[in-house]
Amino acid sequence: MALTGIGILKMLPKTNCGECGVPTCLAFAMKVAAGQVDIGACPHVSDEVKEKVGEASAPPIRPITLGSGDNIFEMGGETCLYRHEKRFEHQTGIAVLVRTDMDEDNIAGRLQRFNDLRYDRVGLELKADLIAVNDSTGDEGAFTSLVERVRNECPDAAIILMSDQAGCLAAGARVCGDHKPLLYCATKENSETMAEIAREAGCSLAVKGETLGEAAEISEQLQKAGLKDLVLDTGARTVRAAFEDQVAIRRASTKHKYKALGFPTISFTCEMTRDPLLETMIASVLVAKYAGIIVLSDLQGDTLFPLLLERLNIFTDPQRPMVVEEDIYPINGPDENSPVLITCNFSLTYFIVSGEVEGSKVPSWLLIKDTEGLSVLTAWAAGKFSADLIGVFVKKSNIEDRIKHRNLIIPGYLASIKGELEEELPDWKIQIGPREASHIPPFLRDWQAESN
Ligand code: SF4
Repeated sequence: MALTGIGILKMLPKTNCGECGVPTCLAFAMKVAAGQVDIGACPHVSDEVKEKVGEASAPPIRPITLGSGDNIFEMGGETCLYRHEKRFEHQTGIAVLVRTDMDEDNIAGRLQRFNDLRYDRVGLELKADLIAVNDSTGDEGAFTSLVERVRNECPDAAIILMSDQAGCLAAGARVCGDHKPLLYCATKENSETMAEIAREAGCSLAVKGETLGEAAEISEQLQKAGLKDLVLDTGARTVRAAFEDQVAIRRASTKHKYKALGFPTISFTCEMTRDPLLETMIASVLVAKYAGIIVLSDLQGDTLFPLLLERLNIFTDPQRPMVVEEDIYPINGPDENSPVLITCNFSLTYFIVSGEVEGSKVPSWLLIKDTEGLSVLTAWAAGKFSADLIGVFVKKSNIEDRIKHRNLIIPGYLASIKGELEEELPDWKIQIGPREASHIPPFLRDWQAESN
């Protein structure tokens, strides 16, 4: 059961020394209880207390890490049923399947698409995360050489090794070395053998039951045997069963602290249908409802991109707007005669506006004012994008040292503050820009033509 702040305070020295970076032990205890700091930040607590508090404050779904170095894939660590309660910690991993019985074109195409299908969006790279290598022929040599090929050709992919042959999984894990793969899978029949391989290789192990109940049973046995890093497959291969199992697992672990199901999940949409569009629809349901990893039969841009966007929307922290830094951003190589635009630091606004400025080919300066991630009108309504604040920002930004003119283009939606802004910046001429970002290119081209 989770400890309260007062429960944690009882275990602290209560000297209020502040060495943890928090002024009092009570404030520190409250932060630990809220999951905002680690108990280890207090240098004066014993290992026993660290272990006790660490266990009590561990998330109900165990965090699992695959891969190595900069190329890790993290899953689990979830604490809530609904995103608005706090946030979802780790986004659903998108995997593509390759099998040893596939022909060369199929394998090469999938690996190529894994590397090629990457999209920049609001400063993030959206892409698939994992490759599931399936030993469909029982040939250890073919399996290990395919694993080796995946490691070489797709170095940033986390790997799922799939085989019912213990020897093949062990050999595949050796090929992966310290780039820790997920081993798939332990069943009722082979769980002891697979547990031994996972323990020796230091890898996470997927558990597959024929039903949700059987997956829980195997999970309990493996935990008793000392395995901690598990991933659950309930055997569901229809969208309805998969959906129900995902919800049951999340509810049982987060609401009822049922430890047998306190692990992230893996779903095989590649085994649910042969229709690529239907598969994407099923995957979109499971992205929304708790899947830790989804294994797709293939990757195609027209279906992967919307799936990645859905994932981005669901796994963005609702309490923390995505922002870019307050700064001067030069676009298209501006000089002292280039126009100066200003907008807010909501990252979506920044990327749309900067994209349109870039597309205009007009060298420009883009001033980004910190509005705490609020969009233009919301920030203005909240008093974070007002004339006085913009005035102070423009003066301290030193943009005046980089340009000869004194023209500032403000967003069309801020037309009402033009007069106030002219009072704040008496040396500047305030120009009202377009309301819509898509109108920026012709606006800038006209601006350029008029100033020449
Ligand atoms: S370092 Fe430890 S003892 Fe000192 S204030 Fe923080 S919690 Fe209290």
